[in-house]
Amino acid sequence: MSFSSFKLHPQIAAGVKALGFETPTPIQTQAIPPVLAGKDVMGLAQTGTGKTAAFVLPILERLLPGPRGRVRSLIVAPTRELAEQIHVSIGELGRNTHLKSCTIYGGVGVNPQIQKLRAGVDIVVACPGRLLDHLNQSTINLESVEVLVLDEADRMFDMGFLPDVRRIIKHLPQKRQTLMFSATMPDDIRKLTNEVLHDPITVKVGHTAPANTVSHALYPVEQHLKTALLMELLKQTDTESILIFTRTKHRAKRIGQQLGNAGYKAASLQGNLSQNKRQDALDGFRDGSYQILVATDIAARGIDVLSISHVINYDIPDTTDAYTHRIGRTGRAAKTGDAFTFVCREDEPVIKGIERVLGERIERRILKGFDYTKSAPARDAEFARPPRPPQRPRSKPAQTGASMDAAVRPPARPARPSRGTAHRGAATAAPVQGRRGQR
Ligand code: AMP
Repeated sequence: MSFSSFKLHPQIAAGVKALGFETPTPIQTQAIPPVLAGKDVMGLAQTGTGKTAAFVLPILERLLPGPRGRVRSLIVAPTRELAEQIHVSIGELGRNTHLKSCTIYGGVGVNPQIQKLRAGVDIVVACPGRLLDHLNQSTINLESVEVLVLDEADRMFDMGFLPDVRRIIKHLPQKRQTLMFSATMPDDIRKLTNEVLHDPITVKVGHTAPANTVSHALYPVEQHLKTALLMELLKQTDTESILIFTRTKHRAKRIGQQLGNAGYKAASLQGNLSQNKRQDALDGFRDGSYQILVATDIAARGIDVLSISHVINYDIPDTTDAYTHRIGRTGRAAKTGDAFTFVCREDEPVIKGIERVLGERIERRILKGFDYTKSAPARDAEFARPPRPPQRPRSKPAQTGASMDAAVRPPARPARPSRGTAHRGAATAAPVQGRRGQR
């Protein structure tokens, strides 16, 4: 199949050609015809499958002939990065259409957004919170919306956005086309589908299994040797851009710094950064001025850099779905990629789940020439936070922050812990908080 079979308007076909897309991806093949026909569509597809063009192209086709300057399509996405990427795709695919899009999300000034809306846009790509603010302030009018897209619906649910999404939908005309994309189909998303989609066509690619252009390998390693293994692995491997995932913001920052100190062009992307710094890290990664980006799951959502050849899970993700999302960043569209995961003994249960979804056992690799025998330091210095300034003595010490660290850190002991569970605690001196809160 080729793009010509969709009979897109020449102005839109020119955008496809300019991007160098030759063959539609499976989600495009399945979704574009029903969307062009005006049907509601539920697309089960993860990032990296080409789903953005699967909805952007038919939207451009629909909006091309109509009136300009009022919001005729609304795309709701969970993160600013994803919203920006969709906006960029609209600009690229629609370069000859003169249709205008803008992004709406929090963390940046509201006035430039109001000005753009006043000047007139055809497509709005928005994150739920700030969009609701605009609706409450009547600075946006959604009464002309013909096509609504809810992208990465499962992520919106994970991030607690579904109530906001329902509120937003109340501001839209009942008569409209609705498209929903999601990598997974938890019950809450199924419920939302029943509420907001009318007689939908469901299209599905690859289920939640990771894209098969990615090859997977596990590197069993003791926690305290992970950074040394990472350095050796980078030395021995031929790579393009590399995305490294860590479990916490603090670890992302530290590893980014260590890679920088070792001479790599590396940046870290984590939730503590200002919007400007996030953008700088993302832009630098995209244009190649940073070869390595170290990120947490939430910060990395929606990253779209075609040249990512390797995803390295410095820390294993909590869930199989998170693994799928992480490695969906490599092997995008027609490219191939490698996913390397560092695993400790206590990670086995998650590995089992990932292997079940992949339907195969993942190869365990030993890195040649790497010294796996080095014993753990008595105290973890790698991820320890700098000491706090002395505080006035209190009658009873508070069990927070640094003092809590010490409270959970097992006593100094020989290199090989006798039980796997003690292992992670020993090397991660991150404070005891809800894991979610740290990302
Ligand atoms: P997405 O899943 O929408 O984030 O797309 C993943 C990547 O695939 C993006 O960088 C797109 O530019 C690229 N892409 C989308 N469709 C095609 C296609 N038909 N051929 C080649 N690359 C594509």
